[in-house]
Amino acid sequence: MAALTEAERKVVDWIAAERAATLGLIEALVNTDSGSLDKAGVDAAGERIRGFLAARGIACDVVRNDRYGDGIRASVGEGDGRTILLMGHRDTVYARGEAARRPFRVADGRGSGPGCCDMKAGLAMNAIVLSAFKTFGPPGPLVALFTADEEIGSPSSRALIEQEARRARAVFNAEPGRPNGGVVTGRKGGVFMKIEVTGKAAHAGNNLADGVSAIEEMARKIVDLHALTDHERGISCNVGTVAGGEVVNMVAPSATAGLDLRFIHPGDRDGAMAAIERIVAHRHLAGTSTRLEITGEFKPLVASAESGKLFEHYAACAREFGQKVTGEFAGGCADSGFAASVGAPTLCGVGPIGGRTHSPDEYLDVESIVPRAQALALAVMRLA
Ligand SMILES: [Zn+2]
Repeated sequence: MAALTEAERKVVDWIAAERAATLGLIEALVNTDSGSLDKAGVDAAGERIRGFLAARGIACDVVRNDRYGDGIRASVGEGDGRTILLMGHRDTVYARGEAARRPFRVADGRGSGPGCCDMKAGLAMNAIVLSAFKTFGPPGPLVALFTADEEIGSPSSRALIEQEARRARAVFNAEPGRPNGGVVTGRKGGVFMKIEVTGKAAHAGNNLADGVSAIEEMARKIVDLHALTDHERGISCNVGTVAGGEVVNMVAPSATAGLDLRFIHPGDRDGAMAAIERIVAHRHLAGTSTRLEITGEFKPLVASAESGKLFEHYAACAREFGQKVTGEFAGGCADSGFAASVGAPTLCGVGPIGGRTHSPDEYLDVESIVPRAQALALAVMRLA
């Protein structure tokens, strides 16, 4: 660490000294249920962050929302200049009660509990980095967003993210770092959809011919939809849920399916959607009708010359702490796609390292919390 200036060393040493406080915030956040549709829970997680920041002299703006959790925006060193933006989402994929069943625990250097690495550790990391710059003075305007609903496509947060990203010269999204310490330089975009088929009920034994099976219609559509997957081009079309019918001896009057479209190239989105719409509209069985509804959507994180430079910059800063950071592509979507889509140089997956997200085996590498916060803080300082 010989290359660090005295001012840089002060900041990163302070971050190391705040390890227990940061871990305490992670624990409080993990132990606060905050499923995306649980407004009270997502807001309670927000209260924890606001309290943590308030105790360190940082006030937050709250963007109220009636349906989802409120948006939270904190900043230090506000000015007219272009900002550096830190991002993170407070919601998890878990229903209320999960935190009580699996509270935050640390064993053998691994933290566990719902949302520990996706992405409550990242939120705490951003909060401590913000606090460091409140203490030592920021290198320029620094903004952090603690948003509400990423796991369902950020219906309420997208506008706030795009608005802040438009005035940012760099965006760091604290989604979990890869198990090998890598960060994420590209992500697929995604469209989440619901398909509803209506048929006609009839007794399966007495008058089968009077019925029209919504399940059969759906099954034929699914085969066609799956055929849209093009591995080479990075397009996938997957029906992840199906439900339908009433009882075994009835022709099914209805069926529903959840469809997930992913793509790498932004230009592929409209073509794939047109193909999906054609398949949905094509009627295999007379007497059926079908509805298609988009329930959520993410923009792809597309690497640019500017984002490539941001990655090189971050990796060089991480090297100061002996960390070897690779840039990786992820099929999973995130808010970083929205930031990148408005032209902001964006780097994702800079949060503490972890893995097996969205599963009971989710883990957080506790020893990575301080080094990742230090790498981020140095990257912020040296951008200025
Ligand atoms: Zn996440």
